[in-house]
Amino acid sequence: MDYFPLFTKLTDTPCLIVGGGTVAARKAAALARAGAVITVIAPDITKNLASLIEDKTLTHVERKYQQGDVSSDYRLVIAATDDTQVNQQVAEQAHALAISVNVIDAPELCSVILPSIIDRDPVIVAVSSGARSPVLARVLRARLETLIPARYGRLAELIGKLRNKVREQITVPQARRGFWERALQGPISELVFSGRDADAEQLVEKVLADTENTESGEVYLVGAGPGDPDLLSFRALRLMQQADVVLYDRLVAPEILDLVRREAERVYVGKRRAYHAVRQEEINETLARLALEGKRVLRLKGGDPFIFGRGGEEVETLAEQGVPFQIVPGVTAASGCACYAGIPLTHRDYAQSVIFVTGHLKDGELQLNWKQLAQPQQTVVVYMSLTNIDVLCDQLVAHGMSADTPVALVSRGTTVNQDVITATLASLSDEIEGKEIHAPTLTIIGDVVKLHDKLNWFGN
Ligand code: SAH
Repeated sequence: MDYFPLFTKLTDTPCLIVGGGTVAARKAAALARAGAVITVIAPDITKNLASLIEDKTLTHVERKYQQGDVSSDYRLVIAATDDTQVNQQVAEQAHALAISVNVIDAPELCSVILPSIIDRDPVIVAVSSGARSPVLARVLRARLETLIPARYGRLAELIGKLRNKVREQITVPQARRGFWERALQGPISELVFSGRDADAEQLVEKVLADTENTESGEVYLVGAGPGDPDLLSFRALRLMQQADVVLYDRLVAPEILDLVRREAERVYVGKRRAYHAVRQEEINETLARLALEGKRVLRLKGGDPFIFGRGGEEVETLAEQGVPFQIVPGVTAASGCACYAGIPLTHRDYAQSVIFVTGHLKDGELQLNWKQLAQPQQTVVVYMSLTNIDVLCDQLVAHGMSADTPVALVSRGTTVNQDVITATLASLSDEIEGKEIHAPTLTIIGDVVKLHDKLNWFGN
């Protein structure tokens, strides 16, 4: 190990920065967050540094560096000028006084290096490439940023607050460790992450009071997006990775299912158009039952759970039975397909509104408000439309929409197999006749479809 990681307390501690440019400003901002008392020596300073002076966190000595400026008053010295000779002098003086020194772009002169940090105060993750490549450290940092929930620091605060109480109640160290491990990966931490700290604290109290230690489970109703796994949200991914069991649909792509925690039990509850594999009521009941058994149940849905996803019905049952749940939005097929096909759903010149409808039959009929759909300057997106596409086009024309209105049929949108067929209300039926079209498909109707040729970036 070239460098030993060490977290240093700098509150109210004098630190010196030599140089007044952007790098110096970046370092000063970091030191200021740690509560350091900063002196900057430089003839000129950038605006960002100047604003720190106003905040009284920084004193500016307005001149060039002079021999003797580094004194044993300082705990840490940073040389950040663009003059390598000056930087070297600063380093030598600091070394002579055994003061920690960091020199920009000169690892050989440094006694300490400043890592890239992920700040979830009081939790700090520091990344160092051992001065080999700051860019590499930054790339790694960006990756970690996406993995650690923004409110992780709040979680640490809460644990700090409750630690003594838990220690008193659960006296066996092993049991205590088990308690915190579950708390950090289950409903308690999830409550903190969604900003409900007081509820989290209450839940800890409840679990502590429960002598049998029966922790209740929870249901995560999660939108998995239209297909491309990159479109998952951070929260979706986190919950997917901590589930005990997952109930999923046909619409959830295998690549997405692969991201669910490996040990999780997988239950397919997919439906097909006329053939319902598992009745909706049964799904609703299963979710409640598994959660009441204490499991973390992931209900993974294609797109967004609240758009033609029956997610509302599922959580209604949970609410009625007092099962805790959370709902995570997903990218719905309309926005996923529209973006990946280069078809803006609204556009100043073509459409001021957009309407989502389902082409699914109700009582054997397409019951839609045709007049409302046939309005000008509007984009109509039809989910579950393929079987009834002819009726759909005919009815729109019969209710006053121009037969020349452009239409796009997007099949397997956002995936590598995406296919976009464009036509008009009048020609679509002939256009797709005899073609093999893979489900799922979405129909976009309106003048915005004209932009597809120009804005198509993803390819067909
Ligand atoms: N809750 C989902 C919709 C479920 S209904 C959402 O928000 O997207 C199922 C319909 O969604 C399909 O019949 C199809 O019309 C549409 N759909 C879902 N994923 C799609 C995709 N990748 N490409 C095209 N259409 C899709």
